[in-house]
Amino acid sequence: MDEPSLKSKFIGALVGTGIGDALGAPFEGRSKVKPEDIDGIADRLASLTYTDDTHMMIGVAESLVRTGGFDGEDMAQAFTKNYELEPFRGYGPGPPRIFRLIRAGGAWDEVAQGLYHSGSYGNGSAMRVAPIGMLYHNNPLVLTGVAHKSSQITHAHNLGKEGATLQAYAIALATNLKPGGTFDRSDLLTKLIGFVSDRVYKEKLTQIQALLPHPDKDRVITELGNGIEAFNSVPTAIYSFLAHPDSFAQAVRFAISLGGDTDTIGAMTGAISGAYLGIKSIPGGWRSKLENRQYIEELAEKLYHLFLGTD
Ligand SMILES: [Mg+2]
Repeated sequence: MDEPSLKSKFIGALVGTGIGDALGAPFEGRSKVKPEDIDGIADRLASLTYTDDTHMMIGVAESLVRTGGFDGEDMAQAFTKNYELEPFRGYGPGPPRIFRLIRAGGAWDEVAQGLYHSGSYGNGSAMRVAPIGMLYHNNPLVLTGVAHKSSQITHAHNLGKEGATLQAYAIALATNLKPGGTFDRSDLLTKLIGFVSDRVYKEKLTQIQALLPHPDKDRVITELGNGIEAFNSVPTAIYSFLAHPDSFAQAVRFAISLGGDTDTIGAMTGAISGAYLGIKSIPGGWRSKLENRQYIEELAEKLYHLFLGTD
């Protein structure tokens, strides 16, 4: 396979989020999904419509590009404005409450703290984190700080922040790998295990190591999870990628076939796989049908230029 350029990886991660989200959305909440049903939906639909996952990922990218890096107030305003323009994107109950508080003048790093006692540990900050994983793919320290702060806007629980950071770091590691060559999956897992601090993530990542040699969908669902909690979905997306590293379509199809929070696990798997394989790995029929594809690709290019420091 041709080695993808770094720019192709930036576009792959952002478009990959959108494709995984849009393909998974029709199956959200189902138990297992047949892979042929996923292809059937993709063939039948004239347009692949994304949900809040991609809508918020766009907000992250817009804000990073506009301010030339992370600005919490600007990002909170971007989420709020985008939600107000398109509230029909399938947002859960929490974020709209936060957006109202932001609109009323609440501080971006305080409003989410009061939600669900000590903040949410849902996967809502991990699902949108691809632009942060890409922009800081060569700087884990800055990546960690920015991923944490970006999560604080809506998902302030430590497990939510750590889930977003883990997903961003998985994207960063995938960006730094060359596809098509030898790829040591256990080396990547060792890096991820060393990177996270919470026990629940360390245990799940260790479990991936045990599951990879013996693919078993039921065990993946039972042991890694397919739910809306960050710790029941980010490791599942990492597994879905690692079990199918050389095929974007196979990785995303597998992620969605697990059922549960299919749009988000699809989006997160698509982000990691797209960051590894680049945009050309995404089937043309899927790519061409993605809603607002051109805008998402333009954002990815701007983010790439911001990375290069040439913008
Ligand atoms: Mg969604």
